Amino acid sequence: MTDGDDASDAFGALGSETRMSVLQTLVEDGGPVDRSFSELFAASDEDTSAGFAYHLRQLVGTFVRKRADERYELTDAGLRVARGIAAGAYTDSVDREPVPLDEPCPFCEEQSLDARIADNVTTVGCTSCERDLLELPFPPAGYATHDDADLPEAFDRYHRHRIGAFDDGVCPTCGGNVQARIEPVDEGDDAGSEEPQPVTARYACEGCGDRLRCPVALTVVDHPGVVAFYHDHDEDVTDRPVWNVGGEWRETLLSTDPLAVRVTTRLDDDELALYVARDGSVVETQRRTAETAPPEAGAGDAEAAEAESA
Ligand SMILES: [Zn+2]
Ligand SMILES: [Zn+2]
Repeated sequence: MTDGDDASDAFGALGSETRMSVLQTLVEDGGPVDRSFSELFAASDEDTSAGFAYHLRQLVGTFVRKRADERYELTDAGLRVARGIAAGAYTDSVDREPVPLDEPCPFCEEQSLDARIADNVTTVGCTSCERDLLELPFPPAGYATHDDADLPEAFDRYHRHRIGAFDDGVCPTCGGNVQARIEPVDEGDDAGSEEPQPVTARYACEGCGDRLRCPVALTVVDHPGVVAFYHDHDEDVTDRPVWNVGGEWRETLLSTDPLAVRVTTRLDDDELALYVARDGSVVETQRRTAETAPPEAGAGDAEAAEAESA
């Protein structure tokens, strides 16, 4: 990881229009290219080659490499900065008119979900019951290159993969190690009520500090057992968007020490149960068909499951 001094030196090296334009000159159609000193100088706005040489020296080492054949090319860090500039990652703030979504609201079932975009963050909410379902950022280039018809699916795929990477223990932003934690949600005044205590999945990257919080059900939708269960009922669970994976999902906190959560989904009277541990791993799955399911699946059932999943 980079400490503060290294980072400010690196960003200081980028603090001039001439140096930023050198990085952009060393990329063509998104790919790195090599250039001689005179080619780079010609492409710049500098009046003297001595003045240009000074700027180029500030980049060499961190962002630009001078090869043995005297030509210049981007380092990996330089390429990432150049692509970030091209994508508007450091400069663009996108606001957009609300985009209507196809799926019904999971709370009130009205056909009234939309995606509102402000300062690069998309909020999916319902205009009927006025509840917000999720709020997640999306990069400026993602907004710029997808029209209203494509944007909801692109946003869904992007976050589906991000959740998958977090769940696999690798940060989708920096590649760093991720700490996962399934935990009860502290509901304050609701504690002690008859309602089952809600749970949530939290991920935090040790490298860049990126973090994500989402329902536990979202972390298991790509589990092979889930994909197969839906496939057997002629449904494709990967069609479900992140803002509504379906009303058939339930999450139950079985135990806090050790932490065990049961996530169930139900199709045509068949039930699939996944037992999830504190680190987010699925330790056990159980499938019950309508014929083999016990007539009453009550509290005793939960205890049995807890023992099996321990
Ligand atoms: Zn609603
Ligand atoms: Zn990270």
